[in-house]
Formats: sequence, C-alpha cells, structure tokens
Amino acid sequence: MDIALSVDGLRVYYFSQFGIVKAVDDVSLSIRKNESVGIVGESGCGKSTIGAALLRSITYPGRKVSGNIILDGQDITKMSDEEFDNKVRWKKISMIFQAALNSLDPVFNIGSQLQEILHQHGYSNDNLDIIKDSLHSVLLDPSIMKKYPHELSGGMKQRVSIAMSLLLNPDILIADEPTTSLDVMVQSQIINLLKKLKKDRNMSIIFISHDLGVISEVSETIAIMYRGQIVELGKAYDIYKNAKHPYTEKLVTSIPNINSQETNFEYLHKKSEDLSIKESGCKFYESCPYAKEKCLNNPPVIKHKDGFVRCWLYE
Ligand code: SF4
Repeated sequence: MDIALSVDGLRVYYFSQFGIVKAVDDVSLSIRKNESVGIVGESGCGKSTIGAALLRSITYPGRKVSGNIILDGQDITKMSDEEFDNKVRWKKISMIFQAALNSLDPVFNIGSQLQEILHQHGYSNDNLDIIKDSLHSVLLDPSIMKKYPHELSGGMKQRVSIAMSLLLNPDILIADEPTTSLDVMVQSQIINLLKKLKKDRNMSIIFISHDLGVISEVSETIAIMYRGQIVELGKAYDIYKNAKHPYTEKLVTSIPNINSQETNFEYLHKKSEDLSIKESGCKFYESCPYAKEKCLNNPPVIKHKDGFVRCWLYE
C-alpha cells in the first residue's frame, strides 16, 4: 500500500484545573506517500496538537489519551523516547514549527544552527555537503551560513527553517502555519517552494493552517477540524466547491471575495466558547442552522468515495 502514515482514534486531552479540554477527540486520518494533506480550522480547534502528537511533543498538562500512529508498519506511540529520537524525529517525520521566524537562535550563525542538528543525530563535522544541499533546495546560497538571524528577511528565515526540517531527508513534513507573518508576495514564494520540494523529494506534506484559501492551493486532500474533531474530509476541490458539513459551508463562505460588497460576516459561535463543556452530541450544534434534536447525540461518520462527513444530515 502507498500509505505513508495513518492515525487511528487519536485523543489528546489537556487536564486543566477548570476541566478537561479535548483538544483532539477521536481523530483518524491516513496520508499517502507523496500526498499533501491540509488540516484547517480556527485557533484552538486542535490542528497543531495533531502535529505535536505526530512528533511526540505534546506538553504538560496535555497527554495522549488513546490512539495509534502507524509509520512503516510500526506504532510510533509505543516506541521508547530513545527509539523515536533515533529512528523517526527529523529522519522520518520533520516539522516547520509555528512562529518559525522567531525560532532561530539569535546568538549563533545559520551554519552553526544547521550543524547542531546534524551533530545531535550523530553526524561528524564533515557534513557541509548535506547543509549546502539543503540550502540549495530552498533556493538559498550557502554563503548564508555565515549570517545571523537578524541579518535575514522574514522570507529568508522561513527558508532556513524549511532547510533545517529537510536536513535529514524526511519522508513526511509537517508545515504548521508556514506562511503566517509573511507578506503576501513571500507567502506565495514559500507555497510554491513547498510544492516544488514535495515533488522533487517525493515527500508527503501535512499543511496546518487556519486559512482555507492557502490550504486549498497546496493540498490534494483537506481535513476540516472543529473543536477537536475532523468534521469533514475530502478532495480539496470538493471541499471548496461542494462543502457538505455545515461548518465547512460557513468556512468557505467566510473567505473574503474581492468582487463582493458583503460586509456582514456572521460569527460562528453563538452561545459558548467553552472548549471543555461538550460531552456528547454534535460540537457544532450551537451554531448550526440545520440543528435538530437528534444532533444532541454524537453524529455518525458517513463515508464517501474520497473521505467522510461527520453529520446527521447525511445519515
Ligand atoms: Fe448541524 Fe446536526 Fe450536522 Fe451537527 S449533526 S452539523 S448540528 S446538522
């Protein structure tokens, strides 16, 4: 099979003094080799937590409660930390982190920071070719190794972050909000670069973003997340042109249209922003224009040819 990674029944909860927040609540997802999958949703919906779970970097008070993540036939959630670091992190799955522009160390030059990653993975000092290759692949001249982060533009820093994530030639790259904080021209350059890298390196890419417009440009498959769950999964074109879930509909219609005079945008959450309260029933119930009494029960996951929708409307 050409499955690069599959996630099954993943649950990640945050145990706070105010209650349990189900950041990721029963998420299942498969990514094929050389496929780009976009995970879209508003802030706090759990999309970045999925990325953190894939790299086993969930921080306290969060914890993976259940679920499997299968890579090359092995459940990486069952590996020891040492085995995961040796076999998977950076080598099989790598990540461009959110706020990557601020993630470079201001006191070391770019070359030292790239070399440090290689040292951590057992490479000797004789590794300049690997670093130069990685910089070339993101269209940066190797002379940038002598520069410090403050000498670089936002776009260059983002390219360095991408070069870092590619150093050990991963099979799967997670790009968490890779264009946030960049101006529009640079956003477009970074998106084109990621598309090219995917093709050249035969990688799978998981794009995480709140911006459905950006995601639909770079992803073949899109997962729409709402309050910890994937409520719709499908081909990018279908999600954009033929949204099934009421939340997806609202997300698509909220994308500003330069030709429209519409200024009256509707808020999605009408009653509650509390992420910890919903124990059962559809999580979109309070904002859904089609809500019925049976929606107070957990909605079924209705599969179709290219994905699924989690909604009573399609039962
Ligand atoms: Fe709306 Fe019901 Fe579907 Fe939830 S299950 S999105 S409340 S129709």
